[in-house]
Amino acid sequence: MAMSLAPDLIHQLRSLRRDGNGNWGPNTLGKAPHKPIMLLAVLDLYAAGHLHENLIPYDEALLEAFDCYWQLCCPGRPTNPLQPYWYLKGEGFWQHQARPGYRQALATLISAKAKVPTRSLIASQVAGAVLSQAFYAAAMNPIGREALRQLLISTYFGGELRQALAQQHQVVVDAFACATALQRQAEHDLQDLFCGNQALDSAYTEESRNLAFRRVVVGAYAHHCAFCGARIRTPSGRSAVQAAHIVPFHLCRNNDPRNGLALCPLHHWAFDQGMLSVSDSHRISVHAYARELPADPGFVALHRQAMRLPDDPRYLPATQALAWHRKEIFAKAG
Ligand SMILES: [Zn+2]
Repeated sequence: MAMSLAPDLIHQLRSLRRDGNGNWGPNTLGKAPHKPIMLLAVLDLYAAGHLHENLIPYDEALLEAFDCYWQLCCPGRPTNPLQPYWYLKGEGFWQHQARPGYRQALATLISAKAKVPTRSLIASQVAGAVLSQAFYAAAMNPIGREALRQLLISTYFGGELRQALAQQHQVVVDAFACATALQRQAEHDLQDLFCGNQALDSAYTEESRNLAFRRVVVGAYAHHCAFCGARIRTPSGRSAVQAAHIVPFHLCRNNDPRNGLALCPLHHWAFDQGMLSVSDSHRISVHAYARELPADPGFVALHRQAMRLPDDPRYLPATQALAWHRKEIFAKAG
């Protein structure tokens, strides 16, 4: 069924106010691309079924989808996705809905025209963003979504980038399906870690599989490092914690979440180097070499501590993976 966008909506979407200062290149037509990127991310969350009502919370999934597009457009450039999430309110189709009891507080915050509120302030007061009826109707319909996507991409991005942005959509949407597949897989016994997962390999691109693995593993540990417990976030909500493979992916080609640990960058590196390992009873071992040196006392203090386990026991690290890591990485650290 054909679906044409309402003329008012087209007008609103073609006239997004964007910052022209700041050395934006031809990829984004010389202006800041935050708002169109936020809207592309929102459309993907509807396509993936992550969003299914007219309320868009500022959550992990939105941040992650935003970052995927941002890295394509402005690789390495710092950004705060809370900016477009907040400033889209001036465009006529995006309104923040207050949490119960916060109506007045939010109205005051909006009228104060201050800087972008912090993530914790937004989380406490804003239930989500609500779209205009015309935008929401289009976002809920596959043909409408495609029309919105094409309108945004052709209006706000240079020719070279357009195709890459159009392809990114599938990566983001597939990552949701792949994450669900990984969660289902963890409901069954783990057979052989080393036989890979050809079904997933052929169904999804590597980029989608990486996103899905990270989402499931880091989510299982609620963004804590399994070794030190660190849960560091940037003001916009990016998490320092990474999804580490216990048996490296290039050896087993297996993204089963039980072949993963959520680790901060330091402990991810130390684990990959064999300076740390984990026993079958989930106690951390610090390599004897580090313990003999006047090394960082915080690092050495991890020795024999219990690692943090995922809340859901389905995602417990596989004993066969931990045993392999002790034998092939920890015992051979060089
Ligand atoms: Zn750590």
